[in-house]
Amino acid sequence: MATVAFIGLGNMGGPMAANLAAAGHQVTVFDLSAAALEQAQANGCGTATSAATAVKDAQFVISMLPANKHVQQVYLGEQGLREVLAKGTLVIDCSTIASEVAISVGESLREAGIRFIDAPVSGGVGGAKAGTLTFICGGAEDDVDEARQVLNDMGKNVFRAGDIGAGQIAKICNNMLLSVLMVGTAEALQLGRANGLDSKVLSDIMLQSSGRNWTLEVYNPAPGVMDNVPSSNDYQGGFMVDLMAKDLGLAQQAALASGAATPMGALTRNLYQSWSQLGHGRQDFSSIFNYVKPQQS
Ligand code: NAD
Repeated sequence: MATVAFIGLGNMGGPMAANLAAAGHQVTVFDLSAAALEQAQANGCGTATSAATAVKDAQFVISMLPANKHVQQVYLGEQGLREVLAKGTLVIDCSTIASEVAISVGESLREAGIRFIDAPVSGGVGGAKAGTLTFICGGAEDDVDEARQVLNDMGKNVFRAGDIGAGQIAKICNNMLLSVLMVGTAEALQLGRANGLDSKVLSDIMLQSSGRNWTLEVYNPAPGVMDNVPSSNDYQGGFMVDLMAKDLGLAQQAALASGAATPMGALTRNLYQSWSQLGHGRQDFSSIFNYVKPQQS
């Protein structure tokens, strides 16, 4: 069993740290939120009053933070972990951030003798709670292999996409595709409704036809078609519109930098950005179903 420091205990990090503790690892956590720390303690984790104290004696440091600036601050900012981590520590950043930020944080840590991999996840809050996440890693093969001893207790798949930063690229490719599938599915279900079809009946038909996709299988955006999904819970919980808009922005930055054409990704970024600006940023991303609702004349 390993000694692990876990930084960032939000919707994803909270249950991930709990699963590590339940598997028998010695887990010390830090978050800016006192409520999150209290919950982690109830879940069997030790708590610390700062990130710098949480990482004392840690073999692995895992972070699950919102975006670029939080990761840069925790590792490279004032009193950042770069200054206190022992040489040889393996840092596993599971946040979804820009590939170039992962590369620059990794490079800066490497200069201080600290190892780094990016390991963003797929599987959502349900996967974090169930311990069935998919980790999409970028980094040296040996480091990714070593990380498996903790990642396997939080997920069921660990992929290595390539060197540092490659995990982030694979992750945003996946989320860009997911957003296109979600918007397309929402549109099809609204078109059916506007023409008198029941969403459950149409979903069953499309699930056995060529429109079948992940959103129809496990994350239907129409309220009442499935139990235990955000659409049947007023679009609460799950993966926020603002986080999807962030990931689609990262995808567009990567597309610009590489010269790739991503017309559907550009469209979904704009749809999610406008939906956020209309006040739905904290709802689950399947709430885009209501954005494509036909207007009453
Ligand atoms: P969240 O906002 O629920 O949690 C982030 C946590 O980080 C918060 O508890 C916050 O207090 C903490 N934090 C921020 N700055 C900190 C600091 N300096 N030190 C310590 N703690 C700090 O976000 P989340 O939904 O858990 O997502 C985390 C990451 O995972 C994001 O990059 C997101 O894109 C990605 N992700 C989320 C999902 C999902 O379904 N929610 C799925 C896959 C990937």
